[in-house]
Amino acid sequence: MSNNENVENEHIWLASPHMSDEGFEKEYIEEAFATNWIAPLGKNVNEFEIELAALIDRKAAAALVSGTSAIHLALKAAKVRPGDRVLCQSLTFSASANPILYEQAVPVFIDSSPDTWNIDPDLLEEALKSYDHVGAVIVVDLYGLGSDYERIEAICQKYNVPLIEDAAEALGSVYQNRPAGSFGDFGILSFNGNKIITTSGGGMVLSNNQKAINKIKFWAAQSRDLAKHYEHSELGYNYRLSNVLAGIGRGQLKVLSDRVSKKQEIYHYYREHLQGLEGVSFMPEVEGHSPNYWLTSILLDGPVSASQLIQHLADHNIDARKLWKPMHLQPIFQKYDFWGSDVSERLFQTGVCLPSDTKMTLKQMERIVALIKQLWDRS
Ligand SMILES: *Cc1c(COP(=O)(O)O)cnc(C)c1O
Repeated sequence: MSNNENVENEHIWLASPHMSDEGFEKEYIEEAFATNWIAPLGKNVNEFEIELAALIDRKAAAALVSGTSAIHLALKAAKVRPGDRVLCQSLTFSASANPILYEQAVPVFIDSSPDTWNIDPDLLEEALKSYDHVGAVIVVDLYGLGSDYERIEAICQKYNVPLIEDAAEALGSVYQNRPAGSFGDFGILSFNGNKIITTSGGGMVLSNNQKAINKIKFWAAQSRDLAKHYEHSELGYNYRLSNVLAGIGRGQLKVLSDRVSKKQEIYHYYREHLQGLEGVSFMPEVEGHSPNYWLTSILLDGPVSASQLIQHLADHNIDARKLWKPMHLQPIFQKYDFWGSDVSERLFQTGVCLPSDTKMTLKQMERIVALIKQLWDRS
């Protein structure tokens, strides 16, 4: 960028794909081409599963086309039946909840705790107490923040309900010395383009239950029974990750810790420069947790509103976004039970995800911070 004007108007992303400088991803893709393992499965898929299972301390893993398909098959593996209630964190992306409806189960939404922004364990227990039968619980680690798993795991065990950890945003985070994705019966990951590492699109289910993972792989490859011809005794899905895309994932895994460090740097930079502004507070810090800081998020409770800040940055070609709009406020989910008050709603109204692209330069970060400060100078 020799042209100064260019630099000043350059688009800044919230989070975009960031391939390794070394070209690791291309090497794995080329290997897939050289051996003609373009499809169906192959070495990259197998190795990607083995590498992630080792990293996350789970016995087995199934690589799938998306985080959404991973939640879907985790619900099936948890034996959720049509009509079962599934308790789900309300503050999340719709992909956490949609698969509940794919299985004709009934979502029940739970409010967040201000301490973690994730599911409130007291409300979770209250809800579990009040229903005769619950098929599963879905807890989300938003923006890489950890949930209160010490309590959540104990509560789910007490009521004998399978727990699914939606760690789509949390790969690389560690809570209480355990990696994100290792909590509950099933952990799920996403490798969508905006996540901390990407396969362009992809997801994974991880579990210590090898049989359940085998079953997930069976469903994900069209439920083909063992026979010489095509024989099906169960409903099938076409959900397996391609061997080419798994190659991108293997390359990306080599730079995961670099990406986490950069996200952490971004968080600390914002913190250092924005902390003193009236009404600004940062995402919670919980003792014993090292988040991956996927998206640095702040709350605005002063003279400048979340919408004003987002609009001001958009006027300068910079992406920022509100926190997720809670599911119990979404038209498609409004009719289902909700446990809680206005915690997640307030987070939605006052929260902003700041640009957290790992490709950002110091100059760009300075530009963002200067633009944000303008709003306070004017107010
Ligand atoms: C991205 C995301 C998903 C879905 O992952 P896809 O790979 O896009 O299907 C699920 N849950 C949460 C919390 C996410 O952020």
